[in-house]
Amino acid sequence: MPAFTVTCPSCGTANRIPADKEGKAGRCGTCHRELPPLYYQPQQLAEQTFDPFVKGYGGPVLVEFWAPWCPHCRSYAPAVRKAAELLAGTAAVVQVNSQDNPQLAGRFGVRGIPVMFLLKEGRIVAQLEGARSSDEIVAWFRRQR
Ligand SMILES: [Zn+2]
Repeated sequence: MPAFTVTCPSCGTANRIPADKEGKAGRCGTCHRELPPLYYQPQQLAEQTFDPFVKGYGGPVLVEFWAPWCPHCRSYAPAVRKAAELLAGTAAVVQVNSQDNPQLAGRFGVRGIPVMFLLKEGRIVAQLEGARSSDEIVAWFRRQR
């Protein structure tokens, strides 16, 4: 069973969380406060699930907008999956099908896809356009601190 590290926001302890606990908020082994849930795979969100997810997660969220007809989005998908793994325990990576969720795409002002936004406390703080490598996504994320 693979495991990922979730750093406790309260005391800084690195907690090992097994992959099968994805999406469940565990407790810190040291201070016993609730940890942000682990996500290591891109979560597929829609109009109704988006805001509750972002609010409930609490940490930074990377949102990728894509569409089924977009070949660049298809070739980007493995890098997005890999980035979700690399950022597991630090940030959540989510995907929104812009064709099925036009209101959400409108709210973000999506003009071209694929595009990724970084949300902190629910607000857009950065935007990354076009298909990138997972390393480029992670480097972009780290630059926004
Ligand atoms: Zn703790």
